[in-house]
Amino acid sequence: MIPRTLAIIFTYKCNFFCKHCSMRASPSDSTVIDLSLFKKAVDDAEEIPSIYTIAISGGEPTLFLNRLLQAVRYAYDKGFNVRVVTNAWWASTIEQSRKLVSMLKNAGLNELNVSYDDFHKPWLEKYGGERNIVNAVRAAIEEGLRVAIAVVRYSENDIINRSYIINLLKKNNIISENITIIEDYVYRFGRGVSIEPDIDKKQYNKQILRLKMPCNEIGTTLAIHPDGTVMACCGHIIRDKAARIVTIGNLTREPLLDIIKRMWRNPFYWWLSIKGPYAVLDELLKVDVESLIKKYRIYSRCELCRLIGTKYEKQVINIFSEKLEDIVKVLNIAKLKT
Ligand code: SF4
Ligand code: SF4
Repeated sequence: MIPRTLAIIFTYKCNFFCKHCSMRASPSDSTVIDLSLFKKAVDDAEEIPSIYTIAISGGEPTLFLNRLLQAVRYAYDKGFNVRVVTNAWWASTIEQSRKLVSMLKNAGLNELNVSYDDFHKPWLEKYGGERNIVNAVRAAIEEGLRVAIAVVRYSENDIINRSYIINLLKKNNIISENITIIEDYVYRFGRGVSIEPDIDKKQYNKQILRLKMPCNEIGTTLAIHPDGTVMACCGHIIRDKAARIVTIGNLTREPLLDIIKRMWRNPFYWWLSIKGPYAVLDELLKVDVESLIKKYRIYSRCELCRLIGTKYEKQVINIFSEKLEDIVKVLNIAKLKT
């Protein structure tokens, strides 16, 4: 649980309305972080030497370009690796793309993450379509930025996947070792709650195996909402009603370091980190997790956390307040074994 990345949710506003969006971002939500709060987050992160990256996401942060440029510059000047996540709506021509990417680069940007998949496609069409992805990636590579293209899949039959992106880049003569393609399956949170991924049995079984693993996100990537709420992870749960189980404080009330210290004192988070949410349900709450997985067709660890934070919230609170000593003992043993 050593924090490495601080993900700052810059805004919930987005010019897209993707049907899988776990953040429930939308054109009508104008929530955006105050620059003073952003700066406080960065100042507080400076006190924690293990934090290396400030990742600015949303919503679509480029909708507030002036504020974004000031934010990037501030984080860069404090010595952080700075990442911005975008849907590339602004990249309909190569000239526009170069202009915006160069502004971001001059402000101190190191990494551009572009989201593109079957869910984003219909919305990107309104701003130019697929050529935006090509333009944005080309401009970023020309500026010497690292680029990640994030693709969310839901089915073996979806169109846009890793191979599709590789072909798209090849077709446009974009070849660089600075490009990473990140492929993931849809998470049933936010607007994506009713999308059940239709993945093949082999892939599904792989996912099920992962359910039993510890969570390496908790405590390493912290997220901050525009109102200052701090989350112990940046999982898709963070705008769900179960988000309170990973809510660890608010920056407007106390320094990030104090919030992190409190997180470290909470054995529940150590359980998630060392043993994972499956073990919380299985070993601590003595729940028949296999039948829950079948019943709810659960295929991601974050969905197990949602169960803990909704159906089992009271039990989990009771167990951690009543059996604290035993729980800490178990964790010490588990920690020695890992
Ligand atoms: S998934 Fe990304 S682009 Fe789509 S609505 Fe959400 S924030 Fe906007
Ligand atoms: S498994 Fe739980 S703790 Fe880990 S990222 Fe998902 S919601 Fe957060």
